Amino acid sequence: MANKTWNKSKTLIICGWCNVCQKELLSNEDGWIVNAEKKHFCHDGRDGSCFDKYVIEQKNIAEDATYEGN
Ligand SMILES: [Zn+2]
Repeated sequence: MANKTWNKSKTLIICGWCNVCQKELLSNEDGWIVNAEKKHFCHDGRDGSCFDKYVIEQKNIAEDATYEGN
């Protein structure tokens, strides 16, 4: 029987892409965030946390949306 050594730690899985900067998020990295909508974000992007940027953006959109229905 063949007994191949399999190094699982070398297998990289792309878990997704940052919703803000489109960076690939790999399974061996844990510096990223998944929100309730299953969107992925870097924790440590070029300008800080991409998740923080996204939250600020969404907050601005939400503030616009509050005008609806009133
Ligand atoms: Zn990012």
